[in-house]
Amino acid sequence: MSLKLPVYLDHNATTPVDPRVLQEMLPYFTEKFGNAASRIHAYGWEAEEGVDMARENVAALIGARPNEIVFTSGATEAVNLALKGIYESLQPGAHIITVATEHKAVLDTCRKLEKMGAVVTYLPVLPSGLIDLHVLEQAITPRTVLLSVMYANNETAVIQPIREIAALAHKHGLLFFTDATQAAGKIPIDVHADGIDLLAMSAHKMYGPKGIGALYVGKKVHHTPVIAQIDGGGHERSMRSGTLNVPGIVGMGKAAEICMEEMNAESKRLAALRDHFEEQLLAIEGSRINGKDAPRLAHATNMSFENINGEKLIFAAGSDLAFSRSSACSSVTLEPSHVLRALGLSDELVHNSFRFSFGRFSTEEQATYAINIISRLVKEHRDERNIGYHKIL
Ligand SMILES: *Cc1c(COP(=O)(O)O)cnc(C)c1O
Repeated sequence: MSLKLPVYLDHNATTPVDPRVLQEMLPYFTEKFGNAASRIHAYGWEAEEGVDMARENVAALIGARPNEIVFTSGATEAVNLALKGIYESLQPGAHIITVATEHKAVLDTCRKLEKMGAVVTYLPVLPSGLIDLHVLEQAITPRTVLLSVMYANNETAVIQPIREIAALAHKHGLLFFTDATQAAGKIPIDVHADGIDLLAMSAHKMYGPKGIGALYVGKKVHHTPVIAQIDGGGHERSMRSGTLNVPGIVGMGKAAEICMEEMNAESKRLAALRDHFEEQLLAIEGSRINGKDAPRLAHATNMSFENINGEKLIFAAGSDLAFSRSSACSSVTLEPSHVLRALGLSDELVHNSFRFSFGRFSTEEQATYAINIISRLVKEHRDERNIGYHKIL
């Protein structure tokens, strides 16, 4: 038994850096430490070369051109730049449509835009987690300029029909932005074929380092320039100033390259692992999969168990398994998941819902271990409750 505990099942929160990514990054901390903006000497050129190669790989992962990629500090910043940057170049009071199940990076940014005068519609979702395209079309008004719908959800792994959504946006002359932080590197994305105008992504969700991400800004956006939110020096085509994080960018590029090569095989392997995990846990009475009627990313699942104490369960699992209850990204606040609520789950069921996400280095042995632990804990935490109940009687 050489299983390292706790077993990590929270890859939607963050992924480990792939050792091949780290290897690629290391020289850029030491001997290749140049500033990519130093265009007058070899140190700068060397750094710039690393950035150029990474930009090509990041672009290729999503079917974009290298000069359409703006490096940021992560997806949160990319989302802020896209939404605030576009809004700033519009008439005050412009209408934006987004969805109730978006990541807080989008929802909190939209709240801020509302304070700045924007009108924002938060679309509901169907119980499957998908948006209803008719409801979307009905929400479009003559003042609507921007539609923001995430590619794949971080809590449920539900994949939205992005091409159809983009087509609808363009039919009405809207710009289409997607937060593809969970989808990038996991499923094929082609911004041009998909009809995406702006796309946010992050390295640390695809086996790259934390603190680096990118915004894709397509050609169509030129009529509505993305106004910089960080000024000073005019880096990244003046959309995002600041000395480039060269090691981070190089790492993101390598991570993108590996994902491109291994995506198909990896998602097949993880789908088998995840499906087996689900099948085994569904045998438990009162269990369900959230979002199971929609297309989903292969590596993750969100499951609810009726009549348990979810908080105690995840606490009891702590030394064996690392997974998340409600949203990992909003777990700073620990409020029940707005995503599961939007799918129509009761507050009680939301509290008893968990996200399990496998990753590149997850093994069958780990999955089996997790199945055993969860099965036991669900039964124990039900029993405990029933025993308590009888005692009170
Ligand atoms: C993780 C995540 C983000 C935030 O990305 P950071 O790079 O950590 O800022 C945004 N959107 C989604 C869907 C995510 O999963």
